[in-house]
Amino acid sequence: MVALVTGGASGIGAAIAALLLDRGARVAVLDRDPAGAPAAALAVKADVTDDTAVRTAVDDIVSEYGSLHTVVSNAGIGAIGTVADNPDDEWRRVLDINVLGMVRTARHALPHLRAAAAERPGCVSITQTCSIAATAGLPRRALYSASKGAVLSLTLAMAADHVREGIRVNCVNPGTADTPWVGRLLDQADDPVAERAALEARQPTGRLVAADEVAAAVAYLASPAAAAVTGTALAVDGGMQGLRLRPA
Ligand code: NAD
Repeated sequence: MVALVTGGASGIGAAIAALLLDRGARVAVLDRDPAGAPAAALAVKADVTDDTAVRTAVDDIVSEYGSLHTVVSNAGIGAIGTVADNPDDEWRRVLDINVLGMVRTARHALPHLRAAAAERPGCVSITQTCSIAATAGLPRRALYSASKGAVLSLTLAMAADHVREGIRVNCVNPGTADTPWVGRLLDQADDPVAERAALEARQPTGRLVAADEVAAAVAYLASPAAAAVTGTALAVDGGMQGLRLRPA
């Protein structure tokens, strides 16, 4: 299996790339800062906001590995604030990465995925890293939540468009995951220890999600075991979406 992981040089994406490698896949990482990609991966420097760079990177990966079966569209950034806090330019910047980045990746991968699906039905998929923010109504996450809401809708629409081509499309919805991104968020907080405790308390399990736990869900969705799974959002969120815990 040949897999492409965008944003695969840090956090959740690096864990996904490492797990797919462990399971025997040949893995290419597309990242704007690819230094942290697993050593065994083919690391390609590209920014998902640059349509030409994404197309060139995808074509180069297929030239190197001969085919493409699995796309994990994971590159994304955070944004804090209410709807009043971020100017239009910041909305455009975040949506360009978090939403259009996935559109561009899919657009340029699809011709290769169609060719692979003809040979290996059920084994060809796109998995997009969405977020619990798409559905949870989190405070001070208006822009980020809107971007991930779009990823969720995009996932469902793409699943419908490509199901008869043998290409499955799903997303994972992590809760707050212990990654460098969250580390940076905590560094900016007035009281990082209290902020981390608040993030942990928000999740019914009382702890952050590990990047490896998200990776395991993605590896399942990309595997032949998930051949009947498409148009699904798999929550890996410590129960945040499904559970409504109240004090006893
Ligand atoms: P991270 O910052 O640790 O890693 C993100 C990676 O994406 C980095 O390697 C970065 O260089 C790359 N990237 C960012 N913008 C890019 C661009 N324009 N082009 C190419 N590469 C780019 O973050 P993470 O926490 O691992 O997040 C990964 C994904 O998981 C994101 O889509 C994020 O929205 C989602 N997510 C994270 C959490 C969390 O709590 N960490 C929760 C839910 C969803």
